[in-house]
Amino acid sequence: MAEHYDTVVVGGGLLGCLTAWMSARDGARVLLVDKDQVNQHASGQNAGSLHFQLEYRMVEAGAEAARVAAEAMPLHLDAANMWACMEEEIKEPLGVRQTGGLMVAENADQVGVLEFKAELERSWGLDVRTLDRTELDAVAPYLSPGIVAANFSPLEGKADARTAAPAVGRAAIAAGATVRTRSRLVGAHRATKGWDLTLRQTDRAGTERTHTVRTAAVVIAAGIWTTAIGRLFDAVLPTVPLALMMTVTSKVPRFIPHLVQHAGARLSLKQSLDNTVLIGGGWPARLMSDAHGAPDLDIKPRLVPASLAGNARAAVATVPALARVPAVRSWAGATTVAPDQLPLVGPVGGAPGVFVATGGSAFTLGPSFARVLAGLLAGASPDIDLTPYDPARFA
Ligand SMILES: Cc1cc2nc3c(=O)[nH]c(=O)nc-3n(C[C@H](O)[C@H](O)[C@H](O)COP(=O)(O)OP(=O)(O)OC[C@H]3O[C@@H](n4cnc5c(N)ncnc54)[C@H](O)[C@@H]3O)c2cc1C
Repeated sequence: MAEHYDTVVVGGGLLGCLTAWMSARDGARVLLVDKDQVNQHASGQNAGSLHFQLEYRMVEAGAEAARVAAEAMPLHLDAANMWACMEEEIKEPLGVRQTGGLMVAENADQVGVLEFKAELERSWGLDVRTLDRTELDAVAPYLSPGIVAANFSPLEGKADARTAAPAVGRAAIAAGATVRTRSRLVGAHRATKGWDLTLRQTDRAGTERTHTVRTAAVVIAAGIWTTAIGRLFDAVLPTVPLALMMTVTSKVPRFIPHLVQHAGARLSLKQSLDNTVLIGGGWPARLMSDAHGAPDLDIKPRLVPASLAGNARAAVATVPALARVPAVRSWAGATTVAPDQLPLVGPVGGAPGVFVATGGSAFTLGPSFARVLAGLLAGASPDIDLTPYDPARFA
């Protein structure tokens, strides 16, 4: 006889773990499955930035693109509040520090971007203001003298991407959820009330076993694999995979209290709680391809030396002291955005009981995505208008 669940969550990244935890806490019988291990992919490879200002990739494409991206601001504000109390609720440290974030500018054009951006963000309710050089000398003396202004948001900061999802996964188990790793969703069929899901479990010796579970609801929290999982439910969920790179330095006495981003260059950096500096900001790695030239998402992306050099140059130009701090490791990971840069969040059209969330900064936004999904699973009407993020907008 098939096992029965109220909800099967597909994907053990931060988003899947948060959704499983919240739903189990609501009293649902929850199964979380991951084809690999919890936190093995984007959620464990990312920069851990909690950024609520619009990112460089959102402002570089011009004012209209920024206005569209700003439509996700209700999710940003919700996530900012949720990160602030997450450690208390999970009852484990997650490395959360919301000590403020700066988006810096080096010239008049970039200052213009900052002023436009701050006004747009404030119109959605984000606390952000533009600091001039004198104010920066007081709060961020580590910045290069070439930085002339910055937008400051006190809500921004960081969390520890290495530990956050596993800790939330443990909280999900404590709340009653079942977590199965090396368990891949390979098929889905409509049942009278819900779905029969075919899972392929691989044991430590590599032996595969296929079995079926029946569930009333399904949550697709599968990151870059979202489009492929959508096909199992005959749903069109377009996502664009992006391979990105990160570098971590050796430990250095604490001197950067903020999350630092740039208004005119790909750059994010922050000092971790272990005193290393994490440098990234959207420099491309190389996605691997299959025999037909399509991206092969199951192969790790490759580092691109020119990206590493460009990222290092941007970091040193912004924080000159980094020139004397050795880099110790660089890695590549893959993440996903929707074609219009807004996330996909909500019910999957044509597949009753199936829900999805992905796209963009799903580490920062994981808590708000998960809260919305858990609410939908419990049958509640969402308290955030989900229309702009409707997964059906591309169908
Ligand atoms: C280098 C880099 C830096 C980044 N920096 C930031 C940042 O600073 N801040 C930020 O907010 N975001 C950042 N991101 C983006 C962020 O990492 C992702 O948006 C977020 O982690 C996505 O979480 P997720 O849980 O949705 O997906 P993932 O963490 O990718 O988890 C999806 C899971 O689904 C599982 N899965 C897939 N298919 C199946 C299947 N068929 N059956 C079972 N399981 C399946 C996978 O094994 C995987 O574990 C960055 C990304 C990268 C790559």
